[in-house]
Amino acid sequence: MPETLRPRVLVLGGGPGGYVAAIRAGQLGVDTVLVEAGRVGGTCLIRGCIPSKALIHAADRFADMAGSKTLGITIDGAPLLDLAQTIAWKDGVVDRLSNGVSGLLAHAKVRVVQGWATFSDAKSCTVETEAGPVQITAEHVILAAGSEAGGAACAAVRRQRHFVGRGAVAGRAAGAAGGGRRGGISGSNSASPSRSSAARSPSSRPPTVSCRATTRR
Ligand SMILES: Cc1cc2nc3c(=O)[nH]c(=O)nc-3n(C[C@H](O)[C@H](O)[C@H](O)COP(=O)(O)OP(=O)(O)OC[C@H]3O[C@@H](n4cnc5c(N)ncnc54)[C@H](O)[C@@H]3O)c2cc1C
Repeated sequence: MPETLRPRVLVLGGGPGGYVAAIRAGQLGVDTVLVEAGRVGGTCLIRGCIPSKALIHAADRFADMAGSKTLGITIDGAPLLDLAQTIAWKDGVVDRLSNGVSGLLAHAKVRVVQGWATFSDAKSCTVETEAGPVQITAEHVILAAGSEAGGAACAAVRRQRHFVGRGAVAGRAAGAAGGGRRGGISGSNSASPSRSSAARSPSSRPPTVSCRATTRR
């Protein structure tokens, strides 16, 4: 017999659209359930804005060190990038923020159900969780399911998500700003130790930036 929940508010999606709504509803004392297939934080926190800004920050620091000669600062030899360590640091930033959002949801007494939701009508869905299906019927439903990249930008966006995603270590990264099927990502973010300023400059063509990495053991 699947577990059945009957909250007043069901929020679908644990990205910035969903978790903010769920936290606020919870703070107002409304019985709220949030359903998220992955980790709370969504695209922005887990594989979008936050990880890309972390990598851009690391790329800027690298570029600063590489270019410091003009300021009269010389370091002994060329700076090296341990990309695995950079990715581990970026993952740590993402973990801290995702755990922070989980803490805020718990504090607001929002129940988080992890799994993919399939709706059978406007107010009822079944969530496939690790422990089995959970049926949810809510008085009010907030859809905050994000958007999917479509069209020509799709492959480039997927590559970019892979690059900024957990544990990803790529030799090259391509970034593209593109309209999603329902909405779209809001910009282009790529990190390159060799051309970090180019990665942020507006351009009609998607920038392809190379990232040369030396792994120290
Ligand atoms: C590389 C990259 C960089 C970005 N940089 C920026 C930036 O600098 N500034 C900015 O403003 N925006 C940026 N964005 C865009 C930003 O990430 C999105 O605008 C934002 O995440 C949208 O929030 P959302 O809550 O609507 O959707 P999302 O964050 O996509 O969250 C939706 C969530 O719903 C879940 N979900 C969907 N369907 C189901 C289902 N059926 N069952 C269970 N769960 C489901 C998904 O798993 C997902 O976690 C960037 C995006 C990318 C890809």
